[in-house]
Amino acid sequence: MNHQTKIVPVLIVGGGPVGLSLALSLARHDIDSLLVEKHQGRTEHPRARGVSMRSMELFQQWGNITELLKYEFPKEAIRFIWSESLQGNEITRVEIKNIKQYSHGDLGASFVTQDCVELYLQETLNEHPNAQIEYSKEMVSFEEEADGVTVRLLDRKNDKEEIVKTKFLIAADGARSPTRKQLGIEMQGPDSLGQFCNVFCEFDISEWTSSRPSIGYFFTDPKIISRSLFMAYGKNRWIFGMRFAADNTRDDFTDDYCLNEIRRVLDLPNMAIKIINKNFWSMAAQIAQQYRKGRVLLVGDAAHRMPPTGGLGMNTGIADAHNLAWKLAFILNHQLNDNLLDSYFDERAPVAKRNIEWSIQNAKRFAEIAQAIHSGNNEKLKIKLQEQQANLNYEGLDLGYIYHSNAILSENNETMSVLPGKYVPTTLPGSRAPYVKLVKNGKTISTLDLFEKEFVLLLGSDGYEWQAAAEQLVKSILFPIKIYRVANHGDLIDVDNQWHQVYEITTTGAVLVRPDGHVAWRSQSIVGEPVEVLRNVFGLYPLHYSQEFPLKNAGTP
Ligand SMILES: Cc1cc2nc3c(=O)[nH]c(=O)nc-3n(C[C@H](O)[C@H](O)[C@H](O)COP(=O)(O)OP(=O)(O)OC[C@H]3O[C@@H](n4cnc5c(N)ncnc54)[C@H](O)[C@@H]3O)c2cc1C
Repeated sequence: MNHQTKIVPVLIVGGGPVGLSLALSLARHDIDSLLVEKHQGRTEHPRARGVSMRSMELFQQWGNITELLKYEFPKEAIRFIWSESLQGNEITRVEIKNIKQYSHGDLGASFVTQDCVELYLQETLNEHPNAQIEYSKEMVSFEEEADGVTVRLLDRKNDKEEIVKTKFLIAADGARSPTRKQLGIEMQGPDSLGQFCNVFCEFDISEWTSSRPSIGYFFTDPKIISRSLFMAYGKNRWIFGMRFAADNTRDDFTDDYCLNEIRRVLDLPNMAIKIINKNFWSMAAQIAQQYRKGRVLLVGDAAHRMPPTGGLGMNTGIADAHNLAWKLAFILNHQLNDNLLDSYFDERAPVAKRNIEWSIQNAKRFAEIAQAIHSGNNEKLKIKLQEQQANLNYEGLDLGYIYHSNAILSENNETMSVLPGKYVPTTLPGSRAPYVKLVKNGKTISTLDLFEKEFVLLLGSDGYEWQAAAEQLVKSILFPIKIYRVANHGDLIDVDNQWHQVYEITTTGAVLVRPDGHVAWRSQSIVGEPVEVLRNVFGLYPLHYSQEFPLKNAGTP
C-alpha cells in the first residue's frame, strides 16, 4: 500500500449539489478545500428539478447563471396536470407561479434538473484553483484528533489508499452518509415512506403533450395509478416514476419490465424508448439528531432527508452549505475559536424540520387529490387543489425563515416572517436581509450584492453617530466589516426611496448583516451609547485568537 499524506483546511466528502456548493462558497472566501467523490463523475440522473429563488440568488452570486438558465424548462410547461391518462381527458391542473419581485428584481425560482445544476456548479468551481475535486476517491474512515481529522481515502482507480489531514471534515455524502454512520449520529423520523424506481428515458410523445405542456403528469385511471411522468431536460427526455408495490424488490425493475410498463401506462405499445439510466430511491422524512461532532459536520441529505414533494431537499442542502461556509471561513481566516459552529445546527435544523413537514403535507395532499378525483368529490378536490397551489408556491418558506442562535441578537421568537406560502420582507434579526435596488458608484446594484465576504453595517440616512462609533470599533476587531450610509446622497443611493421602509428603520437606525445575508442585529433608531451598543453586538462573534487553528492554507508536509 502506498500512503500519501495531504493537508487541507477543509475536506468535503461527496460531490452532489451540496458538496459542490460548499466547495464553491468556501473558494469564494479564499478557503482551500478538497472534495472527494467516490463515483467517476457527476450524476447523470436528473433527480431534483425545482431550484428555489434562494438557491438561484446564490448561484447568481457565485457565477454566470446564463449558462444554467440555458437548461431551464420551457416557461409554458411550469404546471402540474392531472389527466385520466396521457391521451385521456384532463381533470385538473395546478399552476406554479414564478414570483420575481423579492430577489434582484428579476430573478425567480427555476425548473432545471439536478445534473445541469451540478454541471453549472462544477464548471464554476473550475474557475477556482483553490478548490480541488477528485473523483473515484472514496472516504473509508476517519479519526478526530485534538488539532484536526485524519481521513483515509481509497483511490478506486488504482486501489491505493491515501491519507488526508484536515481541520474540518464535511459530510456531504448523501442520505446514507457513511460519515454520519461512523460518527454514530442517529436519524429521527421514518426511514421509508415508500420505495420508488425512476427511469430516465427518451421517447417522443409530443403529439399528446404539446397541446398541454407540463413538467409533471399524474394519471388517475385506476389501471395506471402510482405511475407518473416528469419532464427532464433535453428533447423528448422524461422521467417515468414508479412506486413499488408491497411485494416489489429492485430486481423486479429490469429494463424489459420498465419498457413494457412505460408502453402500457402511456398506451403506446409500439413506441420506441431509450432507457438512459434508472434511480432507486426511498422516500424518507428524517433529521439528524445533531449536525456536528467536534470537527466533523453534516450538510445536505446527510443531515436531513425529505420527500421530494415540495422540491426542497437540494435547496435546503445548498442553504446549509452557504450557512456553514462563511463560518468555517471566518474561523480559518481570522483564527476565531469554533463556538460559531454551534450556531449551524441551531439555525439550520429548524429550517430542515419545517421543510420536512411541508413536504410530508404536500405528499399527503397529492394522495388526497387522487382520492377526491376517484371518489368524484369535487368540493374536496377544489379545496385540496387550492391548498396544493399555495404549497407549490412557497416563497415564504424559501425566503422568510428567521434564525435564532448564538450568532444572532434576536428580538422575538418568530421563526417565519409571516406564512410559509407568503414572503413578507423584514429585517427582524435572523431573517434574510431583503432586496432593495440601490446605486453604488453610479451603478445600479441590489442590497443582496453587498453580502458575501464581510459583515455589512447599513445605516439610515442620518446614521452619523453609528458611523462614528463603528469606525472607532472596527480598528480593534479582526473580521472585515463594511459600513454604508443609505441616503439620497450617501455611499449607497436609495433611488426608489424605499430602503428605510423595507429595512424597517428610521433615518437614525442601523442594521448589521452577516456574510450569509442574514440580519445579525438591528436598531430601528439611535439608542443608548452607540459605541457600547455596537461593542456588545460585535461581541457575538468572539475574537479569540486560537492556537488550535494555526493552519490557513493547504500544503504537503
Ligand atoms: C425523485 C426526486 C426528486 C427530487 N426533486 C427535488 C427538487 O425538485 N428540489 C430539491 O431541492 N430537491 C429534490 N430532490 C432531493 C435532491 O435530489 C437531494 O436532496 C440532493 O441530491 C441532496 O444533495 P447532496 O449533495 O446532499 O447528496 P447527494 O446528491 O446524494 O450526493 C452525495 C454524494 O456523496 C457521494 N458519496 C457517498 N459516500 C461517499 C464516500 N464514502 N466517499 C466519497 N463520496 C461519497 C455519493 O456518491 C454522492 O455523489 C429530489 C430527490 C428525488 C429522489
